[in-house]
Amino acid sequence: MSDLILVVEDEPKLAALVRDYLHAAGFRSEWLADGRQALERLKLGPMPAAVLLDVMLPGLDGLEVCRAVRAFSDVPILINSARVEELDRLLGLELGADDYVCKPFSPRELVARVKALLRRAQGRLAPASLVPMGGGFAVDEAGQRIVWREQPLALTPVEFRLLRQLLQQPGRVFERGQLLDLIHEDFRDVSDRVVDSHIKNIRRKLAAVDGDAVCIASVYGVGYRLDLT
Ligand code: CA
Repeated sequence: MSDLILVVEDEPKLAALVRDYLHAAGFRSEWLADGRQALERLKLGPMPAAVLLDVMLPGLDGLEVCRAVRAFSDVPILINSARVEELDRLLGLELGADDYVCKPFSPRELVARVKALLRRAQGRLAPASLVPMGGGFAVDEAGQRIVWREQPLALTPVEFRLLRQLLQQPGRVFERGQLLDLIHEDFRDVSDRVVDSHIKNIRRKLAAVDGDAVCIASVYGVGYRLDLT
């Protein structure tokens, strides 16, 4: 049976559009327009393969739903938010969401993100195939994981894509705009600051492994560079 995606969205037209694209990509879907109902549905089971979660919802907002779900399940959650400022704020919160997309999104991009989330969830179960990248880093493409000094980094999919890119060309300076293009092929109005938020989170996760090693250097007025030691 194909994977079931739970779409939590209070805009009926948008929900219908997203579901059309999901069905075209071979998924099944279920739709709820209310945050509280979504939480009840997830508590009751059966668990969907992934959840698309809007932030502004009647009943209970998407952030509260996400936090509450994480108390009992690690089902992949993709949060949708209508405002860039909100996306910035979301990145600072440790909600346990797996990925974020900013509205308006293209349904095609959304489906690509869902597929990436599912690959990642499956990769967590499969045996890792780690490719050494230098500097003590190793990348597991199938599982979308990066290991540093034998410690798996708990990266979101966006953080994974960013760090993988930096790792592919250590010592090269990437401009913020380039990094943004690489991670959000389709986004029109996401600000450069979103890159800064992601880099901050990656640095924090690296610092949890070794607080003394400076891996990602800021290049003033330009962007970022990965330095391997
Ligand atoms: Ca909404």
